Amino acid sequence: MSSPAVAVKAPSARTVAHKFGGTSVADAERYRHVAQLLLAREEAVQVTVVSAMKGVTDALIDLARAAAAAPAGDAAGPAWRERWHELRARHRGAAVSLLGEHAGGAVEWLDQRFEELAQVLDAVGVIGSLPEEVLQRVQGLGEVYSARLLGEHLRALGEDCAVLDARDVLVVSHGELGVDVDWERSRQRLRDWRQANPQKRVVVTGFVARDPQDRITTLGRNGSDYSGAIFAALFDADELHIWTDVDGVLSADPRVVPEAVQLESLSYDEACELAYFGAKVVHPQTMSPAIERGLPIIIRNTFQPDHPGTRITAERDFSGPVKGLTLSPNLSLVNLEGTGLIGVPGTAERVFAALRNSKVSVVMISQGSSEHSICCVVKQEDAARAQATLVNAFAHELAAGQVQRVQHVPGISVLAAVGDGMAGQPGVAARLFESLGRAQVNIRAIAQGSSERNISVAIDSDQATLALRAAHAGFYLSPQTFAVGVIGPGNVGAALLDQLLAARGGLLERANLDLRLRAIASRGRQLLEPRGIEDDWRGRFATATDKVDLDRFAAHLLDSHLPHVVIVDCSASPEVAERYPQWLAAGIHVVTPNKQAGAGPLARYEAIREAAAASGARFRYEATVGAGLPVISTLRDLLDTGDAVTSIEGIFSGTLAWLFNKYDGSVPFSQLVTEARGLGYTEPDPRDDLSGTDVARKLVILAREAGRKLSLEDVQVESLVPESLRQASVDDFMARLPEVDAAFDARLKAARAAGKVLRYVARLDAEGRASVGLVELPEEHAFANLRLTDNIVQFTTRRYCANPLIVQGPGAGPEVTAAGVFADVLRIAAGRGARL
Ligand code: ADP
Ligand code: ASP
Ligand code: MG
Repeated sequence: MSSPAVAVKAPSARTVAHKFGGTSVADAERYRHVAQLLLAREEAVQVTVVSAMKGVTDALIDLARAAAAAPAGDAAGPAWRERWHELRARHRGAAVSLLGEHAGGAVEWLDQRFEELAQVLDAVGVIGSLPEEVLQRVQGLGEVYSARLLGEHLRALGEDCAVLDARDVLVVSHGELGVDVDWERSRQRLRDWRQANPQKRVVVTGFVARDPQDRITTLGRNGSDYSGAIFAALFDADELHIWTDVDGVLSADPRVVPEAVQLESLSYDEACELAYFGAKVVHPQTMSPAIERGLPIIIRNTFQPDHPGTRITAERDFSGPVKGLTLSPNLSLVNLEGTGLIGVPGTAERVFAALRNSKVSVVMISQGSSEHSICCVVKQEDAARAQATLVNAFAHELAAGQVQRVQHVPGISVLAAVGDGMAGQPGVAARLFESLGRAQVNIRAIAQGSSERNISVAIDSDQATLALRAAHAGFYLSPQTFAVGVIGPGNVGAALLDQLLAARGGLLERANLDLRLRAIASRGRQLLEPRGIEDDWRGRFATATDKVDLDRFAAHLLDSHLPHVVIVDCSASPEVAERYPQWLAAGIHVVTPNKQAGAGPLARYEAIREAAAASGARFRYEATVGAGLPVISTLRDLLDTGDAVTSIEGIFSGTLAWLFNKYDGSVPFSQLVTEARGLGYTEPDPRDDLSGTDVARKLVILAREAGRKLSLEDVQVESLVPESLRQASVDDFMARLPEVDAAFDARLKAARAAGKVLRYVARLDAEGRASVGLVELPEEHAFANLRLTDNIVQFTTRRYCANPLIVQGPGAGPEVTAAGVFADVLRIAAGRGARL
């Protein structure tokens, strides 16, 4: 517009309407804050709509119900009296705190209002029921008190402001589609009121109004947002600011989805859908007066007044297919099922018409493409009526067997995904269903609005939180998120925790992968964190006093309802391995360098495999063989691509590799063992290495991976510890170790004579025979030319037959082992959609 009068109006001479919710006016301190915020804004006309103090509307409704339920005037006085006192005290307290020595008038005014309230409650007690009219009158009183408190406070600060009781001005009627404003009458009344109250700042009661019969009424729960929009329209405001306790509209309810993100802008349509499907941050009807006038609505945070908030306007931006996700709880599913419905036109209309006639509003309707059933989602309290209505409406078809049944399922929630960008973009629904499917959410019905701005699914309420979080992550509103628990923060575990926390930021940025470390357990203690541990895990774990309990550990990880859960077991404990089947069955991925599961009892191993196959959770244990080397994954790739393994051979022990690489007869064998022990290359008791059992375990793991039903007992193991030294203490063993030197010397000499070297080798042959032990190999053999502690694994397969496939490299050490474990976690994440 070009008229100079309008040009000077902006920006300081604007009319702006504000609405403060109950969360913004919970107590005196907050009223003070709101007043300061308002006074700091230079506006030509400032209209401020307020809600009741937080919780007051609920308290008033409770009072009215209590008065109706309890017989009046028993000896102790009416049951509501105590709560009435509390409520009055809360308001008086706020008045005194806000107004100090000037509080007298306000307190007196409040006392009168509360006396009137008590009289109403007494009357309700006498009639023993709560007429709707009385409920309407009582439930809106909080706004009347609240506007008065803010108005008086502003006046006490020297501002000339007027308090408008919306019951004197706003006329609405309750229609089928909600509350309709009688704009003409309301405008007329406001004009009259304004003549007597021309002040620049006006404080208005939210929520309350009059009906056409001049009875007091309200705009429905959370209706102050709507009041804000109505008064913005009545005052011809340029903008409506809705102040609340969050930074704007978020991609999901932040109480359910902690990682929800703030949305900079929304179209009216998007905001309408979000509000309709339960995003409590705006009331669904708020938009209509704004839309008609093209009035921008800005949702913003009272406690962060500098934050720009979310701007809701007519403009569309197609920044992503889905802007927000919501849940509406307390619904029921009503299902009409029958073969006789197939191909019969107009059935859905009949269902609608019947429900409409009995005043059941339908949240969502969906018809299977087979037309075999029609299912509607209705409010739980309407469900029985809806069912009865449909039984009645289809009585003829039920009797004739064309409709088999009309069922009703309570405990339903609807999850809705909303965004203008969805229209015409394929794959959005698929992404939603995939996320929900992975989280094992059972979808009962699906509907897509014909505007293609919304997809909604009906799910069981007890899966609602899980579903919302999974769907949220699925749309990259938050990244792929894993709840991670680490058991056994020893050498490997500690290295893994360090690596995990160091890599976190980068993975989040590059791969959109969010690994949230939520639990650590050692043999004695555990640390269960509600939010992720981002740094200093050592310090945090050092203060943990909680006794270890692996059931609670797993439950804690699952409770996060993050899309994925992984437990990393860095212990060497069989008891922990014992839990894998149950964890996998619960959908928890298990990653471990612990050989107990892979090489333990075959029955347990099979239970683990079965549980993983059934739930889709992954069991990965790459680091059990060759530490960080890609041994098992190489074997898997061979098998998965259709190759067949003929034999597997290798040197699987860094300790034994080192000993025999070094052993050339220049020093006795026992001396080398002592040296290796000194260098930290052996276990504290070197017999754990020399016995060959550990190598045998690794061979069992590979054999099983290759499909052989092998157990440790089936492996022929040559122990390098003579019978006579097996029972000795470690010190004794070390002292008596030279007893073995002569035998080793003889073997070395024999090998040398034949032009060969000695190596400790594991073998699985084509017939499935497994052995580990000391063998003679030609000097040019691959196993004869390793670097000190390197491991080597050689796969001979149908494809790699003349020239076997070899994996070789350092096969021990906490850092590389932890990296092998970490790589398993990342492989699982990649399989779950992380962009690695
Ligand atoms: P007020 O008292 O200001 O009206 P409400 O409690 O009615 O506040 O609404 C604000 C609350 O709405 C927020 O604290 C938040 O928990 C909840 N909420 C639900 N869904 C959303 C969403 N998508 N974005 C922001 N807040 C949401
Ligand atoms: N106080 C009313 C309620 O709690 C209205 C509102 O706050 O929006 O429903
Ligand atoms: Mg609200």
